[in-house]
Amino acid sequence: MDVNSSILELKGVGEKTGKLFAKLDIRTLNDLLCHVPRDYEIYEDPVSIAQAQDKALCAVCGTLTGKLGERRAGSLHILTAALSDGTGVMQLHFFNMPYLKKVLKPGENYLFRGTVKSRGNAKIMEQPRMFRPEEYHRQTNRLLPRYSLTKGLTNQAVQKAVKQALEQCQAPEECYDGETLDSCGLMSRQEALYAVHFPPDRETLIRARKRLVFDEFFPFLYLLRRNRQLGEGLKNDYPMLETADTVRFLEQLPFPLTKAQQKVWQEIREDMSGPNCMNRLIQGDVGSGKTILAVLALLMTAANGFQGALMAPTEVLAMQHFETVRGYVKQYGVCFRPVLLTGSMTAREKREAYRQIETGEANLIIGTHALIQDKAVYHSLALVVTDEQHRFGVRQRETLAGKGCNPHILVMSATPIPRTLAIILYGDLHVSLVNELPQGRIPIKNCVVNDSYRPAAYQFIAAQVAQGRQAYVICPQVEEGENQDLENVTDYVGKLRAVLPPQVQVASLHGRMRPADKNRIMEEFAAHSIDVLVSTTVIEVGINVPNATVMMVENAERFGLAQLHQLRGRVGRGKHQSYCIFVNTKETEETSKRLNILNGSNDGFQIASEDLKLRGPGELFGVRQSGELAFRMGDIYTDADVLKLAADTLEHLLQQDPELSESRHLPLRRYLEQSVRDTVDFRSI
Ligand code: ADP
Ligand code: MG
Repeated sequence: MDVNSSILELKGVGEKTGKLFAKLDIRTLNDLLCHVPRDYEIYEDPVSIAQAQDKALCAVCGTLTGKLGERRAGSLHILTAALSDGTGVMQLHFFNMPYLKKVLKPGENYLFRGTVKSRGNAKIMEQPRMFRPEEYHRQTNRLLPRYSLTKGLTNQAVQKAVKQALEQCQAPEECYDGETLDSCGLMSRQEALYAVHFPPDRETLIRARKRLVFDEFFPFLYLLRRNRQLGEGLKNDYPMLETADTVRFLEQLPFPLTKAQQKVWQEIREDMSGPNCMNRLIQGDVGSGKTILAVLALLMTAANGFQGALMAPTEVLAMQHFETVRGYVKQYGVCFRPVLLTGSMTAREKREAYRQIETGEANLIIGTHALIQDKAVYHSLALVVTDEQHRFGVRQRETLAGKGCNPHILVMSATPIPRTLAIILYGDLHVSLVNELPQGRIPIKNCVVNDSYRPAAYQFIAAQVAQGRQAYVICPQVEEGENQDLENVTDYVGKLRAVLPPQVQVASLHGRMRPADKNRIMEEFAAHSIDVLVSTTVIEVGINVPNATVMMVENAERFGLAQLHQLRGRVGRGKHQSYCIFVNTKETEETSKRLNILNGSNDGFQIASEDLKLRGPGELFGVRQSGELAFRMGDIYTDADVLKLAADTLEHLLQQDPELSESRHLPLRRYLEQSVRDTVDFRSI
């Protein structure tokens, strides 16, 4: 077996389990080995019942006393027991586990682990996990992997599969030479994989993670570098003249451009009419008005008789841009002839779009990355704008060069990147900043609350809806998963329908829905036939429904701050006061501190830097910062030191051996070529 073998070759992984793994995008052994634990659990030494604090996750050991109790609450079967250790009594509640009646024997010794709830003087554990004391002690103080799961797939099943894969899979060839391994302090990839799934101790885990993150960053940086070389000093094949179209459009717009927008627009015009091809990144906080800049650049392109393309990371966002542009055509008579191209269109619709693209009938093509990857043949593509996705930027130059054209490139992003990182990531790609929000925005009112605030929040949402506004509620999961503490979209919709007045229209949206259904729901929300949208983070980027004024995020502690900031950016886009409710269901000091940063600032750059200060570099179990620039493990913020190490190492190697043709570098060259081929890793939501 090697890393490319199917997981179905593992013992115990049949078709059924295979399908569950496929839900997590795990098909090959490599996918499985790269499915690194979400975090690690540590079984601490048990505490005495007297010491067990409210809300703490802990283990207690004692004797079952008294008789088991049994009752029903609706369809729920509840089994109760009492555990005593001489210092106190812990009440145990088990739901729908009637068979435990036969297992639990009063008078015998048990160990339970769970979260303590205090009710008055009583201490309760609901659904605690039961261990034989010896079994628990064997695992005490070790780092036990916890994986992201899907319904039907247990943590144990994943662990078993990973273990088998590690034992039976041939180790991949070492791609770095000895000197590089030494100077960077990297362990072998195989060792690292083993250690990250089954860490012997914390130090080894940290070193293992470093190797894997390095492996992620290295090909990415290589690709960036190649990409940059391709773009550097490229002649401008599509020099453009300024026309009256953009001036007229700006005059017609209901608002003036902000100073920051004007400056960036000036930079774009200079690029597109100058001697070299444009290669520019526009960075601007959520809501700073980047879309209009893209529209202006595209309009200049169309007015010069060329085609422009606008790529979005999700179909939902692509659809939204398409509608916006169509609105401009209708309202202001701008010279766009737009066409939409997305994966969920029927073959016939696609054929028609291709035709319009090839003949030049369409001069503005809007869609997902399929735009440049697909069979689309362009008539005169002169500008490609990508919205909210850096990774597009990395590959597109190459793909397009392959299609025989070198259009201008404009990348728009809300991800705040510290200056030092920006240089590593973009080199001399020109960076424009939209560092100012449009005037007249009413600052969003934020609050961080615990789950007892939910009823009040629902009332608040109902009141906003009654005033004609709309709301988003974000849940971390699509359906009930292994982690029952987390809210999920499917159940939440039902819950909300039950508590909100019947006329309030509640709908759901998540990544597992068919693209056409997602589009329909988003359209209905934009058209206000839906009042409350319960969604996963698929709406994180770009969505613009100015009438929405409430963003409620469940289990907010599970999200990265940058991501929460993006989510918050979905409201506060119109003329109404907007509100953001972050529900912190795990009120530890650490989560409260983090979420309070959001409470205190609406500035994405400041939030990112505060967050970084709090978490510190090399954070092991960090929550994802943002959907953009998302690596499986690496985080450009907290792993900035590894990113720098990889960048310096790459530079050093290429200086010594620009083609990587020396024999000691051949494995690396093979690895990079392979990775570059595989990096069509556009995150499709
Ligand atoms: P983002 O930078 O997050 O992509 P958008 O481009 O979606 O932001 O803009 C957010 C909202 O602000 C849109 O409704 C847009 O029409 C509006 N907007 C953009 N520029 C201005 C401006 N200069 N003055 C007022 N409103 C603006
Ligand atoms: Mg946007």
